[in-house]
Amino acid sequence: MNLRFARDGANESECVVRYFEDHPVRAQNLLEALPSGAALLDDHGVIGDLNQRLADMTGYPLEELVGRDIQVLLPPRERTTHFITRSELGDDSSGTQVVRDRDLTIRRRDGSELPAGCAFSRLTIDDNSWIIVEIRDKTAQRAVQNAHIMTEGHAIDSESSIAAALAQSEQRFRLAFEGNMAPMVFSDQDGLFLAVNGAFCRMSGRSEEELVGHDSQHFTYPEDIGISEDVYRRIKSGEIDEDCYGKRFLHKNGRIVVAEVSICAARDQAGRALYFISSVRDITDERALADQLSYQALHDPLTGLANRALFDDRLVQARSRAAREGKLGAVLLLDLDDFKGVNDAYGHLVGDQLLVTIANRFEQVTRSSDTLCRFGGDEFLYLAEGLTTHAEAELIAERLLGTLVEPFSFDRVKLEQRASIGIVIWDSESPDNVELVQNADAAMYEAKRQGHGHIVMFTANIGQEAVSRFALVQELRHAAASGELLMHYQPIIDLTTTAVVGFEALMRWNHPERGWVPPDVFIPLAEQSDLILELSSFALTSAMTAASSWEASDPRSGRPYVTVNLSARQFHDPGLVSLIEQELERSGLEPERLILEVTESVALVDIAETINVMEELNRLKIGIALDDFGTGYSSLSYLAALNPRIIKIDQSFVRPKHDKERSDTLLEAIVTLGNKLNMTVLAEGIETSSQLDRLHNLDCELGQGFLWSPAVPAEEAARMLGRSLDD
Ligand code: C2E
Ligand code: MG
Ligand code: MG
Repeated sequence: MNLRFARDGANESECVVRYFEDHPVRAQNLLEALPSGAALLDDHGVIGDLNQRLADMTGYPLEELVGRDIQVLLPPRERTTHFITRSELGDDSSGTQVVRDRDLTIRRRDGSELPAGCAFSRLTIDDNSWIIVEIRDKTAQRAVQNAHIMTEGHAIDSESSIAAALAQSEQRFRLAFEGNMAPMVFSDQDGLFLAVNGAFCRMSGRSEEELVGHDSQHFTYPEDIGISEDVYRRIKSGEIDEDCYGKRFLHKNGRIVVAEVSICAARDQAGRALYFISSVRDITDERALADQLSYQALHDPLTGLANRALFDDRLVQARSRAAREGKLGAVLLLDLDDFKGVNDAYGHLVGDQLLVTIANRFEQVTRSSDTLCRFGGDEFLYLAEGLTTHAEAELIAERLLGTLVEPFSFDRVKLEQRASIGIVIWDSESPDNVELVQNADAAMYEAKRQGHGHIVMFTANIGQEAVSRFALVQELRHAAASGELLMHYQPIIDLTTTAVVGFEALMRWNHPERGWVPPDVFIPLAEQSDLILELSSFALTSAMTAASSWEASDPRSGRPYVTVNLSARQFHDPGLVSLIEQELERSGLEPERLILEVTESVALVDIAETINVMEELNRLKIGIALDDFGTGYSSLSYLAALNPRIIKIDQSFVRPKHDKERSDTLLEAIVTLGNKLNMTVLAEGIETSSQLDRLHNLDCELGQGFLWSPAVPAEEAARMLGRSLDD
């Protein structure tokens, strides 16, 4: 039968219908005459008849399909959506109304699927109205399309190789899709899922049935609904070809899944997006780790406050806001007073607890516009914004100090903690962050100098002092290396015989421009860094060398000893004992002739550790002198525990400025106490013979002071030993 007249744009079934209407024959003949698979359906979609081609194409025996709903040939997911509706065809029997070329998927008897195109039209045979459906296998056509996509337009002309390639590539693709570890989905133009792989099901916690035929909205985190839809719209419009975007899903168990979706579209030759392939990456853990890391990078782990990096960032932002709004701001640097003592006395655990509690108290008075930061150790920075006067910054400082008024208690420990605050006011013109914090630091240093619990506002003067202090430290480093530092020696006198029994080594700085810089100025500066260790070992070395050459001035008193002042840092330096051992060896000085001077406050920082060091020094036969006795706040019970060889009574008792009577009583009490404890009592700063007489009468054994001599260079000290100081 010749059907070649099917042309002029009409499809074959239309032509066939026209042909057979003109030449009524049996339906069977009609169907067999068609080049594609075809079936006659009644208005309910039930198959009345079909041709062998359709049976072959679908893998069903012909008889098995007769009498069954045509939808048996569709995969379940397409059963309602793709079949012809009555309203589309109408019920007139003219046979002219036709639905052409609808794409659908045929599900074969063995479950495999093939792409197909179909056309529907009405046909009346012997007064019975039928729908004739013609189904064409589109596998080859799809292969060409795919080959176009895959080879980017390079034509493949051998049909059999196309089919083979298609079969192979389809199998590869199916494996790659279904077995892929990455969650993947195919979706149609409306975002409805056509297929999902196992990994996607696992990621969403849903089965294939729950997903296919739906879009992702019902399990998208509410705030993220619309993200995918927007991407689909942009791809369909041709604005973009592909995209990679972040979005959160809700797992069926309620857990939030943070995902990164890569999507692209398969397009037809006209560039129309046919369907979408998305590959999803579950980045929940990755993101959580990144968030945690960025939190850690910007926060102090102990208190949870902002750290210096975050503070710097906020300060930069605050300053650009201030430039727009014309307001002021302030940086407050707060330092806890004597916090080291808490760590030393109660351990780091209590120290940490105290820091956390203080941070909490500070946070409670931190305004929402401001930033509180732990600067390190026991220092906090407070960034205040939107101020109009300097007084407002002072008010903030007072509020912060106010939180410390109430004592802190942990377990059995009750603590009082105070702090000092330096404030620097800034505006948009101010120097950079580093300098602002330096200025706040200079103001804080001044606050500390004034005593505990002070608030000091930065001024140009304070800045100048800080600069010269800084310069002095630099010069001091240089001085230590270039021989500008010297040790001078002040004689220690036996008050009964007036013989020189020893010397106190006192450091001197002969500055090329400033002249003699007193140790009260440079020792505290050096104590702020490791420089003090360098200075202290210089003092020890020089003093021990000098003392090793001293001979006895009086045969009754033996060779004179040397006393060397130790700072807190050096006394608690683990290298101290070995340094002394090494210097004893080097200088040949008898250990009994070395006495180390420590102040009460140095000795009492950590009493247990101090006693350990003392025991070590005792073992070496080195003596201890408790310097400036009476000025600290020591408990007398520690005096027995420390058991120093010498107690040096502070000059303020020897030459009292006020309340002479009370000082006299104290002086007497100290001398008596020392004598009772079998310690040698030494009075410092004796300038007059009446002071000497009083002390002698009180039974004070030793004395030191300008009455005899100030500290003098080593050679002069050596000369003193040969003559009487009364001369
Ligand atoms: P210090 O250990 O109490 O030393 C006694 C200070 O009193 C010395 O001051 C000394 O010159 C001064 N002095 C002695 N007799 C009299 C007197 O009769 N009248 C008056 N007005 N003053 C007298 P200097 O040498 O200025 O030392 C001050 C402080 O610097 C020392 O107090 C000590 O704490 C510290 N220092 C000195 N040298 C060193 C050192 O090598 N290492 C350490 N760590 N500290 C040192
Ligand atoms: Mg001293
Ligand atoms: Mg002293």
